[in-house]
Amino acid sequence: MKTAALRQAFFDFFQQQGHTVVPSSSLVPADDPTLLFTNAGMNQFKDVFLGREQRDYSRATTAQKCVRAGGKHNDLENVGYTARHHTFFEMLGNFSFGDYFKREAINFAWTFLTGDQWLKLPKDKLWVTVYASDDEAFDIWSKEMGVPEQRIIRIGDNKGAPYASDNFWQMGDTGPCGPCTEIFYDHGPDVAGGPPGSPEEDGDRYIEIWNVVFMQYNRTAEGEMLPLPKPSVDTGMGLERIAAVLQGVHSNYEIDLFEDLLKAASGILGGVATTEASLRVVADHIRSCSFLIADGVMPSNEGRGFVLRRIIRRAARHGNKLGAQGTFFHKLVPALVSLMGEAYPELARTQAQIERVLLQEEEQFAKTLDKGLRLLEQDIADLEGTVIPGKTIFTLYDTYGFPVDLTNDIARERGLTLDYDGYEAAMNDQRERARAASKFGIDYNAGLQLEGKTEFSGYERVDGHETIRTVIVD
Ligand code: ATP
Ligand code: MG
Ligand code: MG
Ligand code: MG
Repeated sequence: MKTAALRQAFFDFFQQQGHTVVPSSSLVPADDPTLLFTNAGMNQFKDVFLGREQRDYSRATTAQKCVRAGGKHNDLENVGYTARHHTFFEMLGNFSFGDYFKREAINFAWTFLTGDQWLKLPKDKLWVTVYASDDEAFDIWSKEMGVPEQRIIRIGDNKGAPYASDNFWQMGDTGPCGPCTEIFYDHGPDVAGGPPGSPEEDGDRYIEIWNVVFMQYNRTAEGEMLPLPKPSVDTGMGLERIAAVLQGVHSNYEIDLFEDLLKAASGILGGVATTEASLRVVADHIRSCSFLIADGVMPSNEGRGFVLRRIIRRAARHGNKLGAQGTFFHKLVPALVSLMGEAYPELARTQAQIERVLLQEEEQFAKTLDKGLRLLEQDIADLEGTVIPGKTIFTLYDTYGFPVDLTNDIARERGLTLDYDGYEAAMNDQRERARAASKFGIDYNAGLQLEGKTEFSGYERVDGHETIRTVIVD
């Protein structure tokens, strides 16, 4: 089943169950400063869950554009390393606003996945998790759906546990949240990984396909858990992950859509193998970057725009690693538009703008990328030990426009780590110098002369790392 047909089957199923099909909302959350990008289907319904907004339906279904490249759910650093994570993906969801609750939600999910008229997945390949104390969900799975108890795993909210599972879902530090139940698909013994809740679960063998959240609380900024006006349901299933299952492939990057996108990327990059991790990174990143620009985000040195810039630069670096001569990233836009422009007309409508913005950003970074890489290579060659010094990280950031996560991406490929403390210290030194200089009336905001002309425009905090905002103008 092709990805597009799967999206449609999901809508058909939930429409039959009385759900209204609601269009995806923008990747830029409307009126929600707590959220960097839309990261789940429920975001656009946040106020409905909270009882602050009324709709003329109590059941909805969506395919939501999501970006997880910053904030609470950040998968940027997973891309290129797992078979299942993207920076941009589509989340299929069904929602109950005080209408049905656990029993129906579980029943719907199970029927869609295993029902004769629907996806017909083999039941013995499916595992489920429930929130540790949620006996009700456990019993529904076991007694009503007939899932054997040994494939129903109880998982808590995982404070301090060494593995990733966490069966309490929250979109961010505040907002609607609740215990959840998750459905995993076992891709079989030739893929590495252990069942959910085991220390090996981070592999790609048992892949989480669907998360069903029993929305019951609103977490306030003070950390209080207030009950929602009515218990509700929010679910999310990654379209690319379920497509992989149905297409009999182990990796999201082998589904129809990605095969086509990877072929296009390979064509542009001189025939690189489509299994190459860097090519997958490039194919992933063109989706997030293009969709973000289509929704009005522009590369910049702060907030959302800075995250976009980081993704573009990461793509540029991976292209460079594959031997790209000059700019290449923007050339992927037509292929993406032909694959996804029908489902997302905003992409087709803004194609020219996307290409222009990407080209400009690539050209700007190309001026410092090679020099920065050479500096880093030299430092790595001289390195005693396995930790890249903070000063190098800082210079790469400040002078050559390498976001820290980009440097980290390179370090990780070599089995090296970063001295974040040293980096912070170098940052503080810079800040001190700026402060001291300003006492003597030197205006740093007028521009620092480093490598090329660099403008210094202050400090900001991105994902817990304080970074200096600089812009390389030429
Ligand atoms: P994982 O544990 O695999 O990182 P998650 O628990 O963080 O996934 P949820 O927040 O529960 O994911 O999102 C709902 C569903 O969206 C997941 O079950 C999965 O199918 C899909 N999904 C989540 N993150 C990604 C991603 N980065 N790329 C592709 N699909 C994703
Ligand atoms: Mg995750
Ligand atoms: Mg998970
Ligand atoms: Mg989950």
